[in-house]
Amino acid sequence: MNQNDLPPQLYTVPVDPERPLLVVDVDEVLAMFMRAFERFVGGHGFEMRIERFALFQNIFRPGETEHLDVAAGRRLFEAFFEAEVHEIDPAPGAAEALASLSERAGIVILTNAPGAGRAPRERWLIQHGFPYPMIVGSGPKGPAVAALADRTRGPVAFIDDLLPNLESVAAEAPRVQRFQMVADERLRPLAFTAPERHPRFDEWPALKDAIAAAIHG
Ligand SMILES: [Mg+2]
Repeated sequence: MNQNDLPPQLYTVPVDPERPLLVVDVDEVLAMFMRAFERFVGGHGFEMRIERFALFQNIFRPGETEHLDVAAGRRLFEAFFEAEVHEIDPAPGAAEALASLSERAGIVILTNAPGAGRAPRERWLIQHGFPYPMIVGSGPKGPAVAALADRTRGPVAFIDDLLPNLESVAAEAPRVQRFQMVADERLRPLAFTAPERHPRFDEWPALKDAIAAAIHG
């Protein structure tokens, strides 16, 4: 990705050049996205069968064995972000963990939510106790995390549910410590994972302790 394609907020969001920094994803890390999307999809007459670690390939018309086509799934996803993103429950313990970590580290939220979801997502974060700056990105997160990490001499940690984002950060910003978290219990056994490269903790209390140990030594 060309640097010019990156969100300009990566260079303007407050980052203390001497402090540790956490870069945190939203869906399936701070937010129980799948559960809320499942309710939304159900309200539109479809059903979610959580059979694989994917979004659109799990949406079915009742009684059918072939999943909804991906374009229709994407339209539901975008409609959800426009209308219902405030319905998502926070992941248990996430707000408390970040509040505690923020005493000694800066926090930036990095989400790939669709553009129309930006304002409702910002409101959601404030409402649920995540008063940290949010940046909306797109595509693999490595270049964005590298840009943020370059702004501090302190240790940096990145938390995401998606293996491709963790791999992208490992490639683009190797000094950043990566952690995987999958909030939805049903997705946990399906998630692609590489715990030897990206330590994985699916519950916030354990994740918080691992992050604290990594960034404070
Ligand atoms: Mg996510």
